[in-house]
Amino acid sequence: MKLLEDKILSCGRVLPGEVLKIDSFLNHQIDVELVSQLGKEFYRRFSSYNISKILTIESSGIALAFAAAQYFKVPVVFAKKGSHKNVGNDVYYADCYSYTKGETYQITVSKAYLGEGENILIIDDFLANGAAANCLINILSQAQSNLVGIGIAVEKGFQKGGKNLRERGINLQSLAIIDSMTDSSVSFRADN
Ligand code: 5GP
Repeated sequence: MKLLEDKILSCGRVLPGEVLKIDSFLNHQIDVELVSQLGKEFYRRFSSYNISKILTIESSGIALAFAAAQYFKVPVVFAKKGSHKNVGNDVYYADCYSYTKGETYQITVSKAYLGEGENILIIDDFLANGAAANCLINILSQAQSNLVGIGIAVEKGFQKGGKNLRERGINLQSLAIIDSMTDSSVSFRADN
């Protein structure tokens, strides 16, 4: 999506460890008009499916999921992060490895908000190695909900997450796919 690619080129910063900072429009300050356009694009790509809910992960996925949900007119559920010693029987939970923080954390979703047979679209800001997406897929399988697809704002195509998900037949739609990045340049996949 050219709008997002242009924004990354003008406002993104590449940090050591192949981390792209997009704090000025998505991960800290939010460009509401831009994020609303991203939400609309997710709707365009997934509107033919009978989506009943959007699932994301706190905190950066929430704005994107909210923007998309306004077009789908469905609720957003966000997985909560943090370790809960007594998770109890009323939540689904999974352990997740954070690429940017280099640590494992637990995510939980209340059983009340994911139903058996519901058609769920997962939305998140970044896809790198796929740990966050796989954790959300794990939660969906515990809930026996259907995974309709995954919508990602920025896929780092040089990491393995996207390839693995597509090889499993999952309908993964990334609005920008980065093929390579250096301190001074970011290149996008042309045929996306
Ligand atoms: P994965 O779990 O696919 O390895 O990484 C995805 C998660 O890690 C995203 O939810 C995002 O929060 C974070 N992440 C991974 N790579 C980057 C990056 O380059 N920049 C930012 N801002 N977050 C990233």
